[in-house]
Amino acid sequence: MRAALATGVNIPLSLVEREIPEPGPGEVLVKITACGVCFTDLSLVRGHFPFARFPVVPGHEITGAVAALGSGVPGLSVGDPVGAQFLYDSCGHCDYCVSGDQILCPAKRITGIVKDGGYAEYGLFKGGYVTPLPAGLDPVAAAPLMCAGLTAFNGLRRAGATPSSRVAIIGAGGVGALAIRFAVAMGARVAVIGRSAGGEANAKELGAELYVASRDTDPAAALKAWDGGANVILNSAPSNEAAAATLTGLAPDGTLVLCGYDNTPLTLMAQPMVLNRLRVMASPSGSPHDLRDTLAFSAQHDILPRVTPIALDDVPAALDAMGSGSGGGRRVITFA
Ligand SMILES: [Zn+2]
Ligand SMILES: [Zn+2]
Repeated sequence: MRAALATGVNIPLSLVEREIPEPGPGEVLVKITACGVCFTDLSLVRGHFPFARFPVVPGHEITGAVAALGSGVPGLSVGDPVGAQFLYDSCGHCDYCVSGDQILCPAKRITGIVKDGGYAEYGLFKGGYVTPLPAGLDPVAAAPLMCAGLTAFNGLRRAGATPSSRVAIIGAGGVGALAIRFAVAMGARVAVIGRSAGGEANAKELGAELYVASRDTDPAAALKAWDGGANVILNSAPSNEAAAATLTGLAPDGTLVLCGYDNTPLTLMAQPMVLNRLRVMASPSGSPHDLRDTLAFSAQHDILPRVTPIALDDVPAALDAMGSGSGGGRRVITFA
């Protein structure tokens, strides 16, 4: 099978030929249909994950079909459409694992960073971490739901977004565009913070009622003027500074949740946080049950991201383009 391999920090991916792996006990061999190219994959190559194990096949936005099953994998059959996610596996025994919060397990392993992921024609995953796809879900467009969608959906609900919330989303890229649509579908009022005025039409089309170009307007003041502030602000931009700039745009008791972030310290003024009982939290992708909820919600509300299909050979260039900030929809590697 063909695969793209990350061999070390700041080394371009290499395209290699490998044996198709055989599933052992508890494992599922997935013939991969599509794998989204996530900003995390670029962070891996940039060396932002000290626990990465090179060489590794990147990619954790995986859809495909079950090709073979090892022993002891209940609930799946060969041919079933499935997805695989950021969380490769976890210990299964700690309090987080037994309460269904496997993403918090101290022994969790990450797909495409510690274990081989989806930049390959086949992938080996653990039975309990492979998620059935709802019937009729397009596996190419659905690939980014496995990470970007899960991160957005879970971030919103962990931060307490409800139908009566005012929700502000910073950034309208892979995670942000889905967060806007999820928040709208949840019934919340939605504002979008972008850098330039050029993002307004897209944000409004996705359902936002307010768009703030942070280059021209102070985003915190604009949010504060929006009926007293946002109850939830979700940062999807890979910028801590962009998140910090919105802090005082929170309504009292509001929550700023970081889904996007960069490799710098997050600096916040404490006094407005204390006086208004503000919360700042961060949210990793999610656990298997969170992905099931994300997929069910997406299917019910017909929410699929706009994707640009690319070939495996194009993935090194796609990562370069992502690094230089050139736009385009979510790129998804497709396999014949
Ligand atoms: Zn655990
Ligand atoms: Zn991701």
